[in-house]
Amino acid sequence: MSVPVQPDWPQPSHPELIEVRYSATEFNTSAHSLVSLPPGALFTPLTSPPLTLTSTKAYSSIQLSRTEHAELHSDLLYVNHSCEPSLVFDMAAREVRVASRRVQGEEQEGKERGLEVGDELTFFYPSSEWSMAQPFECRCGAGEGVCKGWIGGAKEMGRERMKGMWLNAFIEELLDEQEREAAAAAKDVEATAVKDVEVTAKDGDKQPTVKEERSKRTERKGSCNVQ
Ligand SMILES: [Zn+2]
Repeated sequence: MSVPVQPDWPQPSHPELIEVRYSATEFNTSAHSLVSLPPGALFTPLTSPPLTLTSTKAYSSIQLSRTEHAELHSDLLYVNHSCEPSLVFDMAAREVRVASRRVQGEEQEGKERGLEVGDELTFFYPSSEWSMAQPFECRCGAGEGVCKGWIGGAKEMGRERMKGMWLNAFIEELLDEQEREAAAAAKDVEATAVKDVEVTAKDGDKQPTVKEERSKRTERKGSCNVQ
């Protein structure tokens, strides 16, 4: 993640795999691949160096499950967000794998590529983060229709905006629940609206009784008589 951070681990943590490029502005540090691998290949297990669970999420932590967050303690912390990521962080399998990306160019239609030496290492943050303390405007450069623009946690993004993205299973589950809750809430609103219509209809149906009508006529008649 592109954050100012004091490494608390021996660097480099993955000398064969990751090259960290520091920039003049500390927010733009990035990680780059030292290897070429096909889509789906294991890039590195998330277990070495070991993750440490944290009770609270932080800007430097990653979400492992519905309830667990962890600190990486490695150069993987410098893996930035992209809407067309080169890696996926599979939290259940505790694996970082090579993502499958489109090959640019018309003749390359439908072709997919993995990781090449020098590629920036990126992952799609909402694929593991349910809510994000600091949503941001994405500048990943994936292009129109690919870059999602405003990036928040999966909860804020919603399923529709993340269509086609690889997501962790617990995020898929939480999205299912969110959709069920939204559908139930919509039903409730509908039921309340129907009730309101029924009540209004009852009030509206209140026709004046015959007695009331007669007395009105009598009044009218009476006033006529006076004239
Ligand atoms: Zn983007």
